[in-house]
Amino acid sequence: GHSPATPRGGVEAEIVRFASMEDLQAAPDAAVRGRIVYVDLGQMHAMQDGSGYGPQTRVRGAGPGVAAAKGAAAFIMRSVGSDENRMPHTGTTRYVDGKPTIPAFALAAPDADQVSRLVALGQPVRMRLTSTARTYQTHSQNVIGDLPGATRPDEIIVLGSHMDSWDLGTGAIDDGAGGAITIAAAKAIADSGRRPARTLRVIFYGSEEVAQPTAQTGNGGAVYARAQGAALDKHIIAGESDFGADRVYALRLPAGAQGSDFQKAATRVLYPIGVLASDRVETEGGVDVGPMGPLGVPFFGLAQDGTRYFDLHHTANDTLDKIDPAQLSQNVAAWAGLLWLIADSDVDFRAMKPATPASTTPAR
Ligand SMILES: [Zn+2]
Repeated sequence: GHSPATPRGGVEAEIVRFASMEDLQAAPDAAVRGRIVYVDLGQMHAMQDGSGYGPQTRVRGAGPGVAAAKGAAAFIMRSVGSDENRMPHTGTTRYVDGKPTIPAFALAAPDADQVSRLVALGQPVRMRLTSTARTYQTHSQNVIGDLPGATRPDEIIVLGSHMDSWDLGTGAIDDGAGGAITIAAAKAIADSGRRPARTLRVIFYGSEEVAQPTAQTGNGGAVYARAQGAALDKHIIAGESDFGADRVYALRLPAGAQGSDFQKAATRVLYPIGVLASDRVETEGGVDVGPMGPLGVPFFGLAQDGTRYFDLHHTANDTLDKIDPAQLSQNVAAWAGLLWLIADSDVDFRAMKPATPASTTPAR
């Protein structure tokens, strides 16, 4: 994403391979100039909490810019993904000084293996790359629906997800699932016939994947946070569903809620469906709700099993058949149960907000 096209006829050059970003950064310009830079960190590790993703996205985000500054002709990398399918994973690269860098490509895991094997033989390996990629300006919008609270309607709880997706697949897990989970949870509460005290606000953010850079400028989450102004003071807490539809296993709350009566009540509701209270506190929320953090809004997190998320993420395999209806339903139950408790309580989550929200979540 954000890569410029190659010139007509493509780019052909010798490959120079690096096993890390540090190795690329340390390389003399003469070793890189005019060549195709290949960064291969090895296969991403599948982790329940998705933590294998961060180190790899640094290559995708910053790699093309570093290679371009050293005079490279193009950039290739091993896909950021945990599968062994012959399907590349797309995702965003970062502009340098507001300008696109050099043509950048991601190889599917088996192809990355093969290129690395060829390079390891020690003979020069040449590659021809052709891309018609382009980036253009267009308009997106956030879609917002409120379930007004019965007695404290000015107090807002945000349920976030994003509508945009990469165009290789259909965006079923990233992030159609999040939209489905959050709106189904709000609907379950509405259908119960009894209104909770506070307002539930479901937001389908209009642009998460394409933002440059993510949190501060043009994404739907930043625009929403800016547009709210003083109304943000009445945002009690926010959460985001943006990790597919596999089951929720942990509840994360603001630091001050650890050990609180609220956490105990939430545990009573969520434990029977397999969700444990985590000793890890929620500081980031997610890419879309994240920009509200520095403005004083605390976050909750319903952590999902991400073990197979990055097998499918940002590939042609991101389609509805990968969603397990039973796990999707468990997500809706977890969201509905927790949100009912939050919306019908008078707990001041803002007073529990941790002092230092992080802002390093890679877009996913
Ligand atoms: Zn996403």
